[in-house]
Amino acid sequence: MSESVLVVGAGIAGLCTALALGPTGRQVTLVERDAPPPEGDADAAFRDWKRTGVGHLRQSHAFLARLSLLLKADHPALLKELAAFGVRELPFEAMLTEAQQKDYRPQPADADLTIITSRRTTLELVMRRYVETLPNVTIRSAVFARGLLTETAADGTISVVGLAGDTPEGPVELRADLVVDAAGKGGDFTGQLAEMGAPINESSETAGILYFTRHYRLKPGMSEPPRIGNPPPNGDLGFLKFGVFPADNGCFSITMCAPEIEYEIRKAIMNPDIFQAMTGMLPGLRPWTDPALSEPTSKVFGMGDLHSRWRDLVVGGRPAALGYFAIGDNLIRTNPLYGRGCSFAAVAAYQLRDVLDGQADPLARALAYHQAVHAELRPFFDVMQRDDRAAIRRARAALTPDYRPSVKARLLKSFAEDAIAIAVRFDTDLLRQGMRGFHMLEHPEAWLKRPANLARILKYWARGKRRNAAAYPPKAGPEREEMMRTLGLDHQADIILAQAA
Ligand SMILES: Cc1cc2nc3c(=O)[nH]c(=O)nc-3n(C[C@H](O)[C@H](O)[C@H](O)COP(=O)(O)OP(=O)(O)OC[C@H]3O[C@@H](n4cnc5c(N)ncnc54)[C@H](O)[C@@H]3O)c2cc1C
Repeated sequence: MSESVLVVGAGIAGLCTALALGPTGRQVTLVERDAPPPEGDADAAFRDWKRTGVGHLRQSHAFLARLSLLLKADHPALLKELAAFGVRELPFEAMLTEAQQKDYRPQPADADLTIITSRRTTLELVMRRYVETLPNVTIRSAVFARGLLTETAADGTISVVGLAGDTPEGPVELRADLVVDAAGKGGDFTGQLAEMGAPINESSETAGILYFTRHYRLKPGMSEPPRIGNPPPNGDLGFLKFGVFPADNGCFSITMCAPEIEYEIRKAIMNPDIFQAMTGMLPGLRPWTDPALSEPTSKVFGMGDLHSRWRDLVVGGRPAALGYFAIGDNLIRTNPLYGRGCSFAAVAAYQLRDVLDGQADPLARALAYHQAVHAELRPFFDVMQRDDRAAIRRARAALTPDYRPSVKARLLKSFAEDAIAIAVRFDTDLLRQGMRGFHMLEHPEAWLKRPANLARILKYWARGKRRNAAAYPPKAGPEREEMMRTLGLDHQADIILAQAA
């Protein structure tokens, strides 16, 4: 008989688990605390879908190539469905500068370097409706998984045998051969296991930023500002990062990120008028939010408490529990700036499939899954945490009066801004290789470690700013002081605080 699998959560990781395990013939049941999406189209889902379980549902989302290539290999019909709903593809070509585009010769592998982007409600709606058509997959909505059902052997080994849950009709006990915990960042069944003495290691630290997103729609007859001839719609001012996420059906969202330490900005930016005024001060965003071209369709959605967190459910060769696998944000949380969370979930789901198909012994499965997740995802996580720590230090330094960066810090900054960033704006092949790391198709720094690439980057660095002038992007926006002064932010923040009190 085929194995039965209970999945906690029908978010991105739960849906990816269904996509990976459904075609293997296993009986997969997803239990989801929230209600199903409303009837109707993508606009209805954006407007009406209540998702208490996903606080970031209306934050900008994009899928990297690592995820879309898994879908392309296993579920090409889903990619077609996403396109039919208006989900957007940003090809490699869109990353090129104007000069690079002029003599761009597409290579076959460039098609793999595509970003999929849309309103997350649309991405999730289409994925969910597709998953519901898979023959041996069921989604049970409005079922809140309250705890794991476990059995403990004489030697202390814990086996997970099902879930205790609450439904509108009352409590239920659901049993299965395997439980996959895709309950997202708030999932805490690991806490239940830890209380029973299960070995679990967890480390967590702040990502150091906050996210602020507002949605817009093009006015009738209008189209998106062309990329050619306009300043890039994304940029980094140090005290503020920003970007446009093109979305389905004439929609787009703008996300701005502020370092945690920027208290004034993060309070004030929640005010839609200030958000709009800030977009007007950023040349890359100004054409998008011009009232003649588009109108806002939402408030500003703020999101804090962003952490990177890694959970190990095998410690010293001992698994926390048999028959239990955590996945998605429940297992590993990443800084959203890198756009990797959904790809992490999908990669782990397909590793789980291979592990389950490869062996039947529960202990061997637990160890193999742990090893596969480490081998595939840990390098991305480690590089991210290192870069986040450096960004937090820089943000703190920027607000420290009379701060003088060390020679090493200045060299590293110059290497990032005047060597790497410039080289990829001249050299399309270098950009191509860098994007493979960005899209998680190889180690994020593999391209930088190739001696030939390093030599090319150093060559641009050595040429100096004057000879590289053509590759510098236009200034992304005003200095911090100028923006604060123009917006009267200190004063405005006081007003907002007074109103909130
Ligand atoms: C601001 C922000 C922006 C992001 N942008 C991107 C991006 O651009 N690209 C990207 O790849 N990633 C992005 N991410 C990360 C990405 O959203 C997450 O990695 C992804 O949602 C993880 O999926 P998940 O299924 O693990 O969790 P979720 O999507 O949060 O889903 C968890 C599900 O479990 C359900 N659930 C929870 N507890 C229970 C329970 N007890 N019983 C039943 N159901 C339960 C919830 O209702 C929910 O449906 C972003 C994250 C944030 C915060």
